[in-house]
Amino acid sequence: MNKKSKNPELETETPEEEVLFTSLRVTDWNEFYGQKNVKESLRIAIAAAKKRKEPIEHILLYGPPGLGKTTLSHLVAKEMGVNIRVTSGPAIERAGDLASILTNLEKGDILFIDEIHRLNKVVEETLYPAMEDFALDIVIGKGPSARTVRLDLSPFTIIGATTRIGLLSAPLRDRFGVVHRLSFYEPKVLEEILEKAAIKLKVGVDKPSIIEIAKRARGTPRVALKLLKRTRDFVQVKADGKLNKEVTKQALNLLEVDEVGLDSSDIRYLRAIIEKYNGGPVGIETIASTIAEDIGTIEEVIEPYLMQIGFIKKTTRGRMVTTFAYLHLGIELPKSSSQTKLI
Ligand code: ADP
Repeated sequence: MNKKSKNPELETETPEEEVLFTSLRVTDWNEFYGQKNVKESLRIAIAAAKKRKEPIEHILLYGPPGLGKTTLSHLVAKEMGVNIRVTSGPAIERAGDLASILTNLEKGDILFIDEIHRLNKVVEETLYPAMEDFALDIVIGKGPSARTVRLDLSPFTIIGATTRIGLLSAPLRDRFGVVHRLSFYEPKVLEEILEKAAIKLKVGVDKPSIIEIAKRARGTPRVALKLLKRTRDFVQVKADGKLNKEVTKQALNLLEVDEVGLDSSDIRYLRAIIEKYNGGPVGIETIASTIAEDIGTIEEVIEPYLMQIGFIKKTTRGRMVTTFAYLHLGIELPKSSSQTKLI
């Protein structure tokens, strides 16, 4: 779904990988590791809905790509015993498209809308009464003879997913009864995910390799799984088939993923701020044009992780690189800069 292309080597998924991720998608709550609070709260919402014999409340999940929003939505549908229909904000172009999707839902069904921040205004406004009263107001005819007809819908649930909660309008956000942010995963949790996936993929891999991949996976299950797959490909071509720490390191270095998970575009981003703007503060538009990268990709993929590991700070005057990033990159701190204040 929302696959931002950052490092072409790593971020773009081949059709084969799309199939792989679908096959690896967990279908059991026990195999969905981490995100304890989110899981707990969703399970309570499910139990409550089942008790009331009503569809579960509308749910909004937000956070960077690859953290499990789609997977959770499928788990909710499975546990509720209902169908899930998957679409995305940009795919619903007109109010009529939305009407045809909604009128085809059965009682209790879930409509998963990925990238919900990209719904256009007209569609979004059509969605309000649908979410609130399970009704659609359809305009029939044009000009003075136009009239509005109210169409009743079977009660359903919307699960919206977004990487950009800030771009969601307040009226839309307010219509979700359950709102959760998914956070980056600890390496230990990624290790569990990788171990499970290695068994499913029948990849022979030792614990040190798992630890190494988890460490470099940007706190993101999708990246962890992709690195596992790419290292496996490497080992099949270059080594005797079994992944050990040495081979894993070689493969990850070849993929240009460093010890803390930074890849070439993160490094370009940090170096641009350091070398061209003395460490910042500098505005995102300026950074985007300096490194010829899309602003959306910077905000959704590059910056959340760099902030998480404390390599950058957002200030009212723009982005600043912290001392940790200088140390990591082995670049000397500028003598008279505001950086020193950031330690
Ligand atoms: P998102 O919708 O947030 O972009 P996905 O749900 O598509 O992320 O997850 C990407 C991949 O990572 C899927 O193959 C999924 O099975 C796996 N994954 C995500 N979160 C977890 C988790 N908590 N435990 C196990 N696997 C996970």
